[in-house]
Amino acid sequence: MNRFIPSNGEAFKLLVEVEASTPVELMLYGYEANLTNTVHFLRQYGDANVAEVGLFQGIHHFEFPFPKSVQKLKIEVFDKRSNASNGIKIKNITYKYLPLVQAFAPHVQEYIDFAFDFSQSCGYHETGTYESASGLYSMVFSDYVRSWEDQTNAIIYTPARVNHTNGIVEVSKYYFDQLTITNRFMILLHEFTHFYYNTKDELACDLMACNICLMLGFSKTECMYAIARLFDYCGTDQQCKAFIERKKQLIDFINNWTNEHETTI
Ligand SMILES: [Zn+2]
Repeated sequence: MNRFIPSNGEAFKLLVEVEASTPVELMLYGYEANLTNTVHFLRQYGDANVAEVGLFQGIHHFEFPFPKSVQKLKIEVFDKRSNASNGIKIKNITYKYLPLVQAFAPHVQEYIDFAFDFSQSCGYHETGTYESASGLYSMVFSDYVRSWEDQTNAIIYTPARVNHTNGIVEVSKYYFDQLTITNRFMILLHEFTHFYYNTKDELACDLMACNICLMLGFSKTECMYAIARLFDYCGTDQQCKAFIERKKQLIDFINNWTNEHETTI
């Protein structure tokens, strides 16, 4: 079953009521209609392989905040095991408008707007160099991030990195095509924090990226998903251990976050 939400670029919160008449692994999939690689959310509720979770059945309400603009949202619901939507229906959709958050200095707001627009549209844009509204920031969008500084041009297996000297962010199309819009946005905020605070502290950059996302009104669930995906490939045992600890601290931060949090940015 599919539904279109004509959102007209406003900030809003979507409330979706879903009913499954039989036990399913419910998938909720939201993306920009007719535009490739524009996944806003891809959530799973119920898991046949995890006894404590079990399958999803009955009626449930799901909330999806969209604090930044969405053009034409399409929602699909289906059972992950069969890819079919028999017995699953969207019973009701309501939405309420959200106030726009403008809590940042203008030069930070410019990066936020640029990073979000880039995250939303890079899935169907060509590779090349992109600039923010006033030209203050730029992103180099290539198939892969490459090691140009040592002349080898070797692939660096990372979705993005920032040049600490000039703030230019290099972005890998290969990785970004696999990520949700919120996930891409959080990575770009992480890179911005590296540059803005001139820090190499990965946890501090993750925490600031989460903080900005939550301040803007993005959902905690979507931030959690982004954090989970960031550590898909952790390398050696030692690195994996460090990543697990970093992930734990981030999940605690997101769980305990309230909108009274301030940022010094
Ligand atoms: Zn980093």
